[in-house]
Amino acid sequence: MQKQVLIAGGGIGGLAAALGSARAGWEVRLFERASAFTEIGAGVQIGPNVVRRLQAWGLQGALQAVAAFPERLRVRSALTGAELAALPLGARAIERYGAAYATIHRADLHGLLLAAVRDLPGVHLNLGLSVQEHAQEGGAVTVRLAHVDGRLVEVEGDALIGADGLRSGTRARLLGEAPTRASGHLAYRAVVRQDQLPQALRSGDVTAWLGPRLHVVQYPLRRGELLNVVAIRHGRPPADLESWDHGANAADLEAALARTCAPLQDLIRAVPQAGGGWRLWPLLDRAPVAGPHEMARGLVALLGDAAHPMRPYLAQGAGMAIEDAAELQRALAMHDLEVPLRLTRYALNRWQRNARVQERSRRNGRIFHATGPVRWGRDLALRLLGERLLDVPWLYRGDGSSASLL
Ligand code: FAD
Repeated sequence: MQKQVLIAGGGIGGLAAALGSARAGWEVRLFERASAFTEIGAGVQIGPNVVRRLQAWGLQGALQAVAAFPERLRVRSALTGAELAALPLGARAIERYGAAYATIHRADLHGLLLAAVRDLPGVHLNLGLSVQEHAQEGGAVTVRLAHVDGRLVEVEGDALIGADGLRSGTRARLLGEAPTRASGHLAYRAVVRQDQLPQALRSGDVTAWLGPRLHVVQYPLRRGELLNVVAIRHGRPPADLESWDHGANAADLEAALARTCAPLQDLIRAVPQAGGGWRLWPLLDRAPVAGPHEMARGLVALLGDAAHPMRPYLAQGAGMAIEDAAELQRALAMHDLEVPLRLTRYALNRWQRNARVQERSRRNGRIFHATGPVRWGRDLALRLLGERLLDVPWLYRGDGSSASLL
């Protein structure tokens, strides 16, 4: 009989898990607590390691239609504006890693996964249902769901995937751990139309501006029509983020960037003028995954931010969720194994890579925001070694073969 997987969460990770599970021959029941599928207005970078997985799912055409494919990654000093190093992307990434380096609006990535999965036979996507509890007994897992109208329902399956994000209830029940904690870093994110920006500020490259205790990253989205800007600085989040006035407090960001070079300040000031609103995100943190037991136990496995929330300094959080889903597909398709063994295999094959990416992201944060002599050393190394420091072959090839600074 066809096995059935229950999935908590319909973000990028949950939809990718649904697609992988369906392709492994499982029936899928996904539960998303929101009453509509939505994604925040921001971009993500997806490296060749992630694009390769999307291609394997037949999504190259859909990606090509909505993503941007930057030609270069540039690293500039936020203080002087000088270019410190550059890495060719474009054709060079395809030549070196067999897939492109893409930048994409989160809603477009979410949308292309949703389009790929929603009409597959045996896939049931349910909105407005929040997973409240789960229990494993007698070779089955049961979840208790709360409907938006307050009704409670129980559903049984052969496995449960917790893809319910960085405040994952599935994780809390499975591992009994403390919640994530604030990292002390704040992210301001905005998306603007490039044609609303002055010509000099429009760009098709990924540019990272590195400054003391802050950095800014900009890149194109949606075939280059949009520009994504994210500024990250050290600081305490407001006590009540819900009532925080995102628009008015753009002034905080401008103040934090007061010592930076004119071209960067011009960009930051142009965002609200071009109709883009800054949204604030306190970045949350958790220690890297310590072993496979943190990703799967019995009939339950964790995926994406539920398993390994990470700082965004290697731009791979959504990417690792997609890699998780591709590995989940391989594991679930091992039809001669018992389900707990399949999930153990998934966890064994994923935990170290996720932990490495989490650790490297943290380290990048320290390097990006360095002050004093460390900053001088970083800038000198970037000038001398250039693209050798920017390329990340172990990550983009996915074979763990070599290490690099960024
Ligand atoms: P989420 O997107 O959080 O989805 C979880 C879903 O579960 C939500 O829809 C939620 O409503 C639902 N849910 C929660 N609880 C329940 C419940 N009880 N029942 C049912 N549903 C539930 N990643 C990249 O790859 N590249 C980048 O360039 C990049 N840049 C980033 C920049 C910033 C500033 C930040 C903050 C993150 C960035 N990321 C990036 C990381 C990326 O956004 C996340 O890693 C990714 O979105 C995680 O997806 P997810 O599906 O695991 O979790």
